[in-house]
Amino acid sequence: MRVDVVSVFPDYLEPLRLSLIGRAVARGRLRLGVHDLRAFTHDVHRTVDDAPFGGGAGMLMTPPPWGEALDHVRAEGRAQLGEHVEPHLLVMSPAGVRFDQAMAEDLAREPWLVLACGRYEGIDDRVLTDAARHHRVTPVSIGDYVLAGGEAAALVVVEAVGRLLPGVLGNSASVVEESHSEGLLEAPAYTRPASWRGLDVPDVLTSGDHARVARWRRDESLRRTAARRPDLLGGRSAADLDRHDLAV
Ligand code: SAM
Repeated sequence: MRVDVVSVFPDYLEPLRLSLIGRAVARGRLRLGVHDLRAFTHDVHRTVDDAPFGGGAGMLMTPPPWGEALDHVRAEGRAQLGEHVEPHLLVMSPAGVRFDQAMAEDLAREPWLVLACGRYEGIDDRVLTDAARHHRVTPVSIGDYVLAGGEAAALVVVEAVGRLLPGVLGNSASVVEESHSEGLLEAPAYTRPASWRGLDVPDVLTSGDHARVARWRRDESLRRTAARRPDLLGGRSAADLDRHDLAV
């Protein structure tokens, strides 16, 4: 997969060179391009913002640098991936579609993502309309709160998607057994020592009985989801839960 990120703070994306995603980049499983929006300005102040038409607080990111930056990224990517390949542009925005694990899984199947990080009061809407002339454009929100800029959101999206790419995680079973992969939160987990500060690991986990362990994890997963995120159970029909689940 290729991922390009466009931002006025390219250094903000440096954490993508660390840890799991950094290793994926170093090994070529993820091709990462980070682009400075200000490189596509032509005035001495490297201006990327202007006052919004119609008034209102704050400044808005102006279309010309965004248009040039996205054209440049598209040309560079197509030269590498082939002229038939188009990116999927994800515009970070609190007014976007809510990012979740299902979206991360869908995005992980795509060949090329471009993430646009807004600042100030966001990006002139024509940038999205213009980009949509060439390829898909999706405004993406990482949650119902407002950040100062899209960089932290881009880090979240790239990490959540990148760890799903083939060969990135050492143990691919991890991604099917974790929170949200089945619409439930993961059960509590424990490692050695079996007893610590008077707290013992549940007996079932040291029993060696794999069927009982699986049953316990399923029960705990349902219990935890009901306690912390009942909204995740809301849409689930009774038929989805077996008799034992219903009794929990
Ligand atoms: N005026 C905008 C609005 O109300 O929709 C908020 C702009 S916010 C201060 C600046 C930038 O931060 C946005 O353009 C976006 O890139 C990013 N951002 C803020 N909150 C976000 C969120 N929840 N998800 C994704 N990006 C977010």
